[in-house]
Amino acid sequence: MLIVLLGPPGAGKGTQAERLVKQLHLAYIATGDILRAAVKSGTALGQKAKEYMERGQLVPDEIVVEIVRERLADADCAAGAILDGFPRTVAQADALDKVLRDMGKKVDRVIYIEVEEEELLSRLTGRRVCRDCAATYHIKFNPPRVRNVCDQCGGELYQREDDSLTTVQERLQVYREQTAPLIDYYRKQGVLEVIDGNREMEEVYADILAAIEKGSD
Ligand code: ADP
Ligand code: ADP
Ligand code: ZN
Repeated sequence: MLIVLLGPPGAGKGTQAERLVKQLHLAYIATGDILRAAVKSGTALGQKAKEYMERGQLVPDEIVVEIVRERLADADCAAGAILDGFPRTVAQADALDKVLRDMGKKVDRVIYIEVEEEELLSRLTGRRVCRDCAATYHIKFNPPRVRNVCDQCGGELYQREDDSLTTVQERLQVYREQTAPLIDYYRKQGVLEVIDGNREMEEVYADILAAIEKGSD
């Protein structure tokens, strides 16, 4: 089972993926997390990706496609995976189809989480992330039990640099131009499920689960 989570920055992809991965026992592939880890440890990949990420732009397709290709070959992905934040361009989607075809697999379901722009702004500017396990919180909508401390691992929470208002606006623009075309791309493939993401996390989650179960026959 290969599931893609599609949606603008702040839609709740990471939040929902955290729950799905636990319940469905699927591998989790979040290109943003992988890239941030590379930047933090200063690898060659991280050095290349850093400037794009800071500006709120997309890292070049070749780089992220290679990351995902390698990751999908890992043993824990054999039974299936959730892709969060990839693909983000039509070129990436084409490349993914090809990688999967070579493995005898395909994209089974694309969960498109739709959220209004104003809501995205407040979600992103209030987001906090764990430095150690990348769990996601929100200062108002999903606060940790102890201020700035991760419920899951006790790690320190921080605000991503690209969650500042100006960079968020740039990222939303990039989303509209380069990622939104994937909605039609996957609709044409007959795998798209549109989810109303403007609601409580639990309600959104229930809809996503139903959409996935509907597709798994
Ligand atoms: P978001 O909260 O917007 O979903 P992510 O953590 O997925 O953010 O991504 C953060 C940044 O990492 C993006 O703004 C982009 O620079 C880079 N990135 C992540 N995934 C991709 C991808 N599939 N293609 C290109 N760049 C990516
Ligand atoms: P994405 O991965 O799509 O960028 P996240 O899952 O990181 O989005 O969510 C963005 C922010 O919004 C986080 O701070 C998260 O806690 C919060 N959030 C996620 N889903 C909801 C929701 N349904 N209602 C309110 N806040 C939410
Ligand atoms: Zn943590």
